[in-house]
Amino acid sequence: MTSPSLLQGNSLAARDAKSVIHAYTNLSTHLTEGPLIIETGKGINVFDENGKEYIEGLAGLWCASFGFGEEELIEAAIDQMRKLPFYHSFASKSTEPGIRLAEKLLEIAPAPFSKVFFANSGSEANDTVVKLVWYYNNSLGRPEKKKIISRQKAYHGVTVAAASLTGLPPLHNDFDLPIQNILHTSCPHYYRYSKDGETEEEFAARCADDLEKLILKEGPDTVAAFIAEPIMGAGGVIIPPATYFEKIQAVLRKYDVLMIADEVICGFGRTGQMWGSQTFDIQPDILSCAKALSSAYLPISAVMVSQDIFDGMVKQSEKHGAFAHGFTYSGHPVPAAVGMRTMELMEERNILGHVRHVSKRFNERFNALADHPLVGEVRTMGLIGAIELVADKKTKRSFDPKFKAGPKTAQAMQDAGVISRAVAGDNLALCPPLIITESEIDEMFDRFTKGLDDVAAMAF
Ligand code: PLP
Repeated sequence: MTSPSLLQGNSLAARDAKSVIHAYTNLSTHLTEGPLIIETGKGINVFDENGKEYIEGLAGLWCASFGFGEEELIEAAIDQMRKLPFYHSFASKSTEPGIRLAEKLLEIAPAPFSKVFFANSGSEANDTVVKLVWYYNNSLGRPEKKKIISRQKAYHGVTVAAASLTGLPPLHNDFDLPIQNILHTSCPHYYRYSKDGETEEEFAARCADDLEKLILKEGPDTVAAFIAEPIMGAGGVIIPPATYFEKIQAVLRKYDVLMIADEVICGFGRTGQMWGSQTFDIQPDILSCAKALSSAYLPISAVMVSQDIFDGMVKQSEKHGAFAHGFTYSGHPVPAAVGMRTMELMEERNILGHVRHVSKRFNERFNALADHPLVGEVRTMGLIGAIELVADKKTKRSFDPKFKAGPKTAQAMQDAGVISRAVAGDNLALCPPLIITESEIDEMFDRFTKGLDDVAAMAF
């Protein structure tokens, strides 16, 4: 972080503190401490305004899958900019990049989806999903069947409905959220919430039972859908216990509740398969995706729906004259062209094969941290993982929040040259660009461990 003295005068940091409201930032300390200004990027690295190099251990925000200098994606954007820099999709207008990308998504989808709707962010995609679930049930003459069940610690975004789906209290407190008809069931975090002696399968059964009890309490005729990230990302990188989705989906089928997969982080190779839904055998009726869809080079997200849901939408559109939903930039040709090139590069360079190969090293290095005195749990799969810091390994006691173990460790790691993030408390996540090599993984973990050791020296 920039030192306070640099906030004097007309430095970029001072100008930032004077003019910019930062997302997910302590606005008060930012006024005196200022930003870290990133100037350039190449491969898995970014460089700050003083030329210091960092490994971007989180691919930005779990998104820049091809790193920070993929010329093919830059060229795709420039070519499309020259041809047609903008057009929209309202009133039956269309462009070739949007059509091609929709076809590609349907071809690689993990379920037999029928159609694709484009938006600009994961939050917009999930807000769209909420509206589609309501629209669909109205088309079926089921005006009562509207509640959507999410999970504690889920992350689905920040817009009004998406933040309501999110199960993290800071996104609700004083924002007057969640809105009505959004409920939260138990978080499938085995390390934190399993009972003594309970197996993963037994814990999964208890989570499914909690869901069933909630559906019965609310009334099955009022519950429309269940939404889940295959691996919960911003909630702490929580990997579901064995048989979790199998048991959850059995409950959903019993009560005619739709399954929505939020693939905003897991989609496009993160778990070693194209979709987290494939890794965990999820059969979604609706799927939202974003981030690695364009390697984050330009904003684009997508929602895929089943034929049944699309039929309901057509019926509603016949009734109302138009499907009255869409963004100015839905299907924008430039991000769509970059998204299409991203999908092609995934195939041309066998990114899935690469992820499966290098994730072995990634998982080994993560698991080697299990014995570290600060680490309570290591959770890792594919190229995503986190360590959970604890004050006492035996009792799993967390640090006093006043100690700020998570943010302190993230800062120590940044000083050591790797950008990680403290998520949902004291969990330090890694989710590097998918193009990372084995030797880069080693260097990333060397720096990560150095940051951890530096904080351990302060903690004990
Ligand atoms: N869903 C998941 C699983 C996410 O991780 C995120 C963002 O991190 C979102 C939705 C929201 O996406 P966005 O920040 O693009 O609105």
